[in-house]
Amino acid sequence: MSAAPPFTLVGARIWDGASAGYLDGADAVVVADGRIAAIGRAGRLIRRGEAIDVGGRAVLPGLIDCHVHLCLDPSILDPQAQSRGNDDDELAAMGARAESMLRAGITTARDLGGGRFLELSLRDAIVRGEARGPRLLCAGQPVTSPHGHCHFWGGEAADAEAARAVIDRQHRRGVDLIKVIATGGNLTRGSRPREAQYDEATLAAIVAYARELGYRVASHCHGTAGIRASAAARVTTIEHCTWLGEGGSGSDYDPEAAATLAANGVWVSPTINSAWRRHIESNDARVARIGANFAAMRAAGVRLIASTDAGIPNVRHSDLPAALPIFARYAGLTPVEALRAATSHAAQALGIENETGTLEVGRAADLIVVDGDPLSDLACLASPHAVIKRGQRIL
Ligand SMILES: [Zn+2]
Repeated sequence: MSAAPPFTLVGARIWDGASAGYLDGADAVVVADGRIAAIGRAGRLIRRGEAIDVGGRAVLPGLIDCHVHLCLDPSILDPQAQSRGNDDDELAAMGARAESMLRAGITTARDLGGGRFLELSLRDAIVRGEARGPRLLCAGQPVTSPHGHCHFWGGEAADAEAARAVIDRQHRRGVDLIKVIATGGNLTRGSRPREAQYDEATLAAIVAYARELGYRVASHCHGTAGIRASAAARVTTIEHCTWLGEGGSGSDYDPEAAATLAANGVWVSPTINSAWRRHIESNDARVARIGANFAAMRAAGVRLIASTDAGIPNVRHSDLPAALPIFARYAGLTPVEALRAATSHAAQALGIENETGTLEVGRAADLIVVDGDPLSDLACLASPHAVIKRGQRIL
């Protein structure tokens, strides 16, 4: 992709993605060749290109959604009814979703599954500058048991040997990570979210093989048995992590499994979208239970990353900025902690912390400019004043 012309943002309050507050003694960011060339006082650093005065607005890293599905149309309620169009039509629809993400300030996203590898084509088209969208990391077809959750995406494997063949196929297609379905899921008919899909030894063998090929592993888990097996197998991230028991969501929290998550450095990606607001408003009993589980996980040292599962019914791909305040409410996070989960910590979990997630010299120039004070009120993320990805100005 040809590099955008250099420019210098001035008059900025800069949050770097990690610090407790805005940077002292810095109000300007120099962007050149798609990267951050300098951060400092406008009067002292060497400006490049046009000076853009952001008028005292906050400048922070672009957001990272750690769990999306670009192939899913959120207006279609049954995922098995999706993906009937030809590849060109599908890619056009996915491109529009990707562009909507970018406009919302999401400059990186991890795509956790599809059946036709079209999200990989979109990923590459974005890198080449032929399509607009976030930097994408793609899992391709999730490894799942026969008729298991998301089996319709083509990654069925009854045992470790079959799973290795599925992983080899993802590898040949050029995925960025491997996703394994450790428990049933809600959107697949006949699937039981509480039940583990693989025994511990099989799951461990699947994860070990993916690791051998150099991949990080995302593990879909609702029921506690799947969380326990995934924690022991040292997956990279646990998706959903619902602690689903007979009493419903959050009713089967296991302190030992949480301790293993922490000890093994496994990140939890709880896929909380903005629609969860309604549970808070209705004062659902689950809210207190889920909140208590988050408090216990955090006390145990489990690290959290932000994710929405965008693409599932009624969750638009641009949901993350609206979801973050809800995520913060459930998980008991300060705005700064929630923002780290969507920037620097997300980048660490995805293994791209040397590329994005923080505002530092040499990183990709992925940043958003927002009105108000996001470090005290996440609501101001909802309508960014500007979005810049790899040095390209989007809004
Ligand atoms: Zn998902």
